[in-house]
Amino acid sequence: MNRVFEWQDAPEAEFAVIGDPVSHSLSPKMHLAAYASLGLPFRYVAIQVAPGDVRASLELLKKRGYWGVNVTVPHKEEALGWPTEVEPLALHVRAANTLDLRSGACINTDAPGFMETLAPLKVPRKDALVLGAGGSARALVYALVEAGWQVRIFNRTHEKAEAMAEEIGGRAVSVAAPENAGLILNTTSASLSGSDLPIAWAETAPDAIAYDLMYAKEPTPFLRTAAAHGLRTVDGRPLLAAQGALSFEWWLSRPAPRQVMLEALG
Ligand code: NDP
Repeated sequence: MNRVFEWQDAPEAEFAVIGDPVSHSLSPKMHLAAYASLGLPFRYVAIQVAPGDVRASLELLKKRGYWGVNVTVPHKEEALGWPTEVEPLALHVRAANTLDLRSGACINTDAPGFMETLAPLKVPRKDALVLGAGGSARALVYALVEAGWQVRIFNRTHEKAEAMAEEIGGRAVSVAAPENAGLILNTTSASLSGSDLPIAWAETAPDAIAYDLMYAKEPTPFLRTAAAHGLRTVDGRPLLAAQGALSFEWWLSRPAPRQVMLEALG
């Protein structure tokens, strides 16, 4: 667990992650490991910000001399209201996870970070069943569609899947049937409540990969069930490392120590 600061009490530092909650975030550990490996004297802290306070907290962090901020759940959309220069991708998917307080610019590194993590997985077919239609699904579905994938979207609230497909791309489905999918991507927060998802696992191709954006000490219910059906599984740590490396590089204009960052996540 991180030491967490309320935003009004933010200490002197160069970088931070803001969220609600933020105590569980592995970003401080990962970025501090990167700085240590390169002998950089930077500090990176976890800051608690309640919904509605994002703008005020960023103004204060800027005044206190912060250079950059990562944004996690649930603030990625609210953060778009602060900076002056929003990258087109972040604007389109309505989510910014990386802000430069020096310039007022923001970008989304979840989408390109996610695509980086797919390369070594050698997914057998560019055909994905995406579970969930929240903020992270928007960014990832956009990245997949742009890269020429067939994307099916299943969500507990079907209308949200339909609205997202209309706006971003892909096709909303009312049953989570993964036949032919090379990738089954869980972007829901169902694991937070320990829930499993209504997936027709028996119809899954045996070479498909189950990928969960969430990570925890133990495999999530989604990954446990996928593994029980013989599928290869990936949790959210490679994505956390990839999006963090892209943030690092954007802030500091130098290559990030990707392996160090991944290993810091355990
Ligand atoms: P949102 O709150 O925007 O969306 C949550 C989604 O989960 C919605 O589609 C919601 O469905 C669905 N959902 C929630 N609870 C359940 C449940 N019990 N059963 C079925 N579906 C459920 O969250 P985000 O998209 O921003 O983030 C989702 C998760 O991904 C978070 O846990 C986040 O930590 C993780 N994440 C990890 C990253 C990484 O670096 N590893 C990067 C980005 C996100 P409905 O529409 O019906 O409410």
